[in-house]
Amino acid sequence: MSRIYNIAVIPGDGIGPEITECALKVLNVAARKYNFSLKINKYLAGGCAIDRYGLPLPEETLEGARASDAVLLGAVGGPKWDNVKPELRPERALLELRAGLGLYSNLRPAIMYPELSGASPLKSTKPIDIMIVRELTGGIYFGKRGTYETDEVMADGTPMGTVTYDTESYGVGEIARIVKQAFEIARSRNKHLTLVDKANVLATSREWRRIAGEVNEVYRDVTLDFLYIDNATMQLIARPHTFDTIVTSNMFGDILSDEAGQITGSIGMLPSASLGKPGTPGMYEPVHGSAPDIAGTGKANPLATILSAAMMLELSLGESRAALAIKKAVSDTIADGYRTTDIMIGKDSVKICNTEQMTDAVIAKLK
Ligand code: NAD
Repeated sequence: MSRIYNIAVIPGDGIGPEITECALKVLNVAARKYNFSLKINKYLAGGCAIDRYGLPLPEETLEGARASDAVLLGAVGGPKWDNVKPELRPERALLELRAGLGLYSNLRPAIMYPELSGASPLKSTKPIDIMIVRELTGGIYFGKRGTYETDEVMADGTPMGTVTYDTESYGVGEIARIVKQAFEIARSRNKHLTLVDKANVLATSREWRRIAGEVNEVYRDVTLDFLYIDNATMQLIARPHTFDTIVTSNMFGDILSDEAGQITGSIGMLPSASLGKPGTPGMYEPVHGSAPDIAGTGKANPLATILSAAMMLELSLGESRAALAIKKAVSDTIADGYRTTDIMIGKDSVKICNTEQMTDAVIAKLK
């Protein structure tokens, strides 16, 4: 009997509806080929939800996401909603979805397709295939913050004035669950995990190291090494091909994943997954935003969303063969010269295509 999965689709704003439609087209073809079916329920979030309901994440959307097997999201936001109150901004929908679904780890693969190396500032000829595992719900972005007044005077005689602070804090459980997940991922890849931290300065980082060392006892087949964040940003540029899986805190992961993304070429190629407790729905979305500047023009590259859908098949639905087939179809499409304008390197001998044509090219290669 065919396996049936409930997918909550949140197209969002700008190019979001166009690219999620493309991913659904590919998913439906993959479903037929690999003998499963998808029950798709669409929900509003972001600017379109503000327009309809007056708030970025309607209860119905969160409930639908919670009741699903996985969530596929396009992107939210745009200039139309730039001046709404902070608590009503479209991006609030993402934070509330992450919190509401308990998504604590963000996975961002950074893969460089050899044919696109010219789009990368590094022009590296060596393959790059890095998985960044970023802690998503703790650390300085969620720690205690505030301001206070002080009479303190600094050594040079300048009064300190009002002090503003943010706090980096992590619980043992919070660190252990993401580190374990990163070891699992590293084990399924090239068995090399790098913990990026600032253990020469931060107590929290030293705790990450201690816990990672302990967890490594259970995953002895995985090599664990450590890099300070400042050095890691340099090494990612100097020797990106030597990295396999990276695990790091919320803020360091935020910075490093953007850097890794850029060295592989276009933002239009970068998928992501956000995961919580095993057995609960994960959320899959492209790294890029709603690209209002190209919405409705057919210029959007759908590959980041199609690759996000492949991650969904693999990580939430267990349909690894179909996931692999989509990833292979994407690399074959790139190898065959199909290019949306964001990944065009020179105009010679490339098949320039719009959003829909790129999607059809992937489908044609899906085995
Ligand atoms: P963006 O990622 O939307 O666009 C940056 C640039 O990359 C633009 O020139 C855009 O045309 C291009 N681009 C992005 N995706 C592309 C694709 N698939 N194909 C081809 N080109 C692509 O970032 P931005 O312009 O800073 O933000 C636009 C809106 O998106 C803002 O409202 C922002 O808050 C929102 N945003 C949402 C998310 C999300 O929903 N996860 C993430 C980032 C930004």
